Amino acid sequence: MKIAVAKEIEVCERRVALNPDTVARLIKQGLEVWVETGAGERSFFSDSAYEAAGATIVNDTTKLWHEADILLKVSPPQERENGGAEIQLLRQGAVLISFLNPLGNPVIAQELANRQVTALSMEMIPRTTRAQSMDALSSQASLAGYKAVLIAAAALPKYFPMLTTAAGTIAPAKVFIMGAGVAGLQAIATARRLGAVVEAFDIRPAVKEEVQSLGAKFVEVKLEEETTADGGYAKEVSEASKQRTQEVVAEHVKNADVVITTAQVPGKKAPLLVTEEMVAQMKPGSVIVDLAAEQGGNCARTEAGKDIVWNGVTIIGPINLPSSMPIHASQLYSKNLASLLQLLIKDKALQLNFADDIVNAACITHAGEIRNQRVRDALEALSTQVGKH
Ligand code: NAD
Repeated sequence: MKIAVAKEIEVCERRVALNPDTVARLIKQGLEVWVETGAGERSFFSDSAYEAAGATIVNDTTKLWHEADILLKVSPPQERENGGAEIQLLRQGAVLISFLNPLGNPVIAQELANRQVTALSMEMIPRTTRAQSMDALSSQASLAGYKAVLIAAAALPKYFPMLTTAAGTIAPAKVFIMGAGVAGLQAIATARRLGAVVEAFDIRPAVKEEVQSLGAKFVEVKLEEETTADGGYAKEVSEASKQRTQEVVAEHVKNADVVITTAQVPGKKAPLLVTEEMVAQMKPGSVIVDLAAEQGGNCARTEAGKDIVWNGVTIIGPINLPSSMPIHASQLYSKNLASLLQLLIKDKALQLNFADDIVNAACITHAGEIRNQRVRDALEALSTQVGKH
C-alpha cells in the first residue's frame, strides 16, 4: 500500500497533506509513504525531515502520481503549468483524498469518475461526533477565524483592549462577528483574548449559549421559519427573513469598529449580510474582514483576495487564510487525514466499507460513478445553466 503526498501547485497553497510526524506514525503502522520533493517546503518541513521520518522522497511527479495507491493532497487537483491535468496522472482505480469542492465545482467529480478514480472529498466528511477527528473543515475554519481577528486588529487604527493610561483612558474596540460556526466561535474567542467587546449573530439560534460562554453578547433575531438544516448547517432563508435580519443587524454593524463575517450555506453562494448602505453607515477607520470572500462574500463591497477602502472603511476579502499558518494548518490536516486512513485501511489493505456513514458520505466517486446525490444534482444544475447560455 503506497501512500503518496503530492506537492501542491496551487499558487496560494502553502499547506502540505502530511507533516513528518504523521508520516512517521503511518510508517510505524507498516505503510509505505512517498513524499514528492519539496512537498513540505512552504510549510517549513524539509525533505530531510520526511526522510528521517521514514518516507521515500520522489522527484518524479508523474511516477509519484501514477504509482500511488492513495494520493493525498490539500487543494483540488488542477491543470499543470507544463500542460495536462493532475487528474490524468492518476492510475485508474487509485484513491485520491483531498479538498475537492465538489458542490462548488462538480465538474471535477465527473472528471474523477471518468478516470475511474475513487475520490474522497474532505468537505464531505459528516459533521458528527465520530467523525470529529477527520473534520478538516473545522480544523481549518478555526485557523481562519483566529487569523481573521489578527488581520482586523492589524488594520484597525485603534487598540483592541481597554487601556487606562496616564494620558487617558482608551475604550475597547467593538467587534461584531456574523456567523458563529467554527470560524466565528474562534474569532469570538480571539477577539475576547485581545480585550475587545464582542457581539455575535447567527441565523441558527442554537449557538446562543456557545457565544455567551465565550464572553460575547448574542444578537438575537426572531424569525418565523426553521433556519437549521440537516447536519446542523444553516438553511437558506426567505427574502422576508433576510429583510428582517438586515434590519436588526444594521444597527450593530453601524456601531462596530470591526465586523468579521463568516456566514456560509453549503453548496450555495454566501448570504449577503452587510449591504452597501450598512457599510456607508460605519465609522471611517472601521474594518470588515469577510471570510466568505471566496464564496461571493457576505459584504456587498468585498473583492476576493483584495483589501479595499470604501467610504473610509477597510474591507478585506482574504483567500485561503489557513494556508497563511501552514505549520499548524498542515499538522491539523495531517491528523484529519491519518484518522480517515485508519478507517479506510485494515491489515495494510484498502477496505471501502460503504455501510460506514463517514466513508459513504466522503466518497464522491467510485468505479466510474459519481456516488453522491448532491454532487450529481450540482452537476445537473450546472449543465442546465450552460445549456441555457
Ligand atoms: P459554515 O462555515 O457552513 O457557516 C458558518 C456559520 O454561518 C454557521 O454557524 C451558519 O449558521 C452561519 N450562517 C449561515 N447563514 C447565515 C446568515 N444568513 N446569517 C447569519 N449566519 C449565517 O458553518 P460551520 O462552521 O462549518 O458549521 C456548520 C455546522 O456544523 C454547525 O452546526 C456546527 O455546529 C456543526 N459542526 C459540528 C461538528 C461536530 O459535531 N463534530 C463539528 C463542526 C461543526
